[in-house]
Amino acid sequence: MNLYHLKLNNVNRIFFLLLLFNLSNTSILSQTNSTNIKTIVIDPGHGGKDSGTLGTKRFKIYEKHVALAVSLKLGNYISEAFPDVKIIYTRDTDVFLELNERTEIANKSNADLFISIHCDGFTNPKPSGASVFVMGMSKLKANMDVAMRENSAIYLEDNYQQKYDGFDPKSAESYIVFSLMQNTYLNQSLKIAEEVESEFSTRANRKSRGVKQAPFYVISRTNMPSILVECGFLTNPKEEEFLHSDLGQDYIASAIFRAFRSYKQNIEMPPNAVNEKSNDLNNTLKKEVVELKTNKIKNDLSLLYKVQIGTFLRSMLNNPQFTDLKVEEEKINGTFKYFVNVGSSKKEADKLKIRLRDLGFNGAFIVAFLNGKQISTKEALNLQNKLKENE
Ligand SMILES: [Zn+2]
Repeated sequence: MNLYHLKLNNVNRIFFLLLLFNLSNTSILSQTNSTNIKTIVIDPGHGGKDSGTLGTKRFKIYEKHVALAVSLKLGNYISEAFPDVKIIYTRDTDVFLELNERTEIANKSNADLFISIHCDGFTNPKPSGASVFVMGMSKLKANMDVAMRENSAIYLEDNYQQKYDGFDPKSAESYIVFSLMQNTYLNQSLKIAEEVESEFSTRANRKSRGVKQAPFYVISRTNMPSILVECGFLTNPKEEEFLHSDLGQDYIASAIFRAFRSYKQNIEMPPNAVNEKSNDLNNTLKKEVVELKTNKIKNDLSLLYKVQIGTFLRSMLNNPQFTDLKVEEEKINGTFKYFVNVGSSKKEADKLKIRLRDLGFNGAFIVAFLNGKQISTKEALNLQNKLKENE
């Protein structure tokens, strides 16, 4: 079957596959409350019996060696600058690790960021340059080829068919399920990916092949913003020599470190800003309640609950599962968010959320809107309680 002309004619089968893939670990409920980066997982690709790309084969240094060296250097840079950030390596020696084990390490540690380090390879020595990937489907054969090559690491695992529910890295059909996966952390993943890409192209003076999306297994199941960095082509003789050198590895690691530093600074708002924001919101709520009490304009206040089904990388409006639910679509930065409208009852919203999760939308969660503006469900409940008190 040609991947680029797949017809999603059997939606039920695909949702069954989605259930098999157990996407519950992408649920928004398991997100940490704080935006501070406390733990980062660095994942050096391959290892042990899995050498990864062999490069030009002029040397006995392969992708697994370069990935480990760059990863350890990156970790050192981070721990020097941010001693409070916990750094977890999926491996820090030359050992074989299953892809499942890598994502498990990240998810169990409740990490705030996952960075997988790899090197590219091609069938001829010409291509060069670094790429940064976030999870997602791609129509481009070149991107699919990279993901298929990296995912093929599971062929070296025992019983991979059972462990990965029949997922075959080289079969185009196996990737249908990826196109329907929700991608809760896409925006944050894109932020760090863009930082790395800009460091590569400006400061580290590398040829940058840009930020791309492809269905890499290892970043598809991590429950946090995740990127996969292809540091360069080991099949390109010049780039291979650069990536084998201590200086080259330092260039790459320090570029990723600087990207990490500015990503961290950007998402960690100073505590004052957070307090001001929540005070503002509290004041707004107080004002609304006072207005209600004095002007008796209760009917003008519209509090609305919706259940958000998830964020997808393409429009799902031609999918009957979605149209049957009469979903509302919201397009933000090239992603598609879907909501089902409930009304003003939190109880009904809870019921619908459970029903949607039973249908396979494992990441479904409730959002609240006050006069069209999104507020937290806690604020919505507080407001409803205050209204009752004032009745
Ligand atoms: Zn690799």
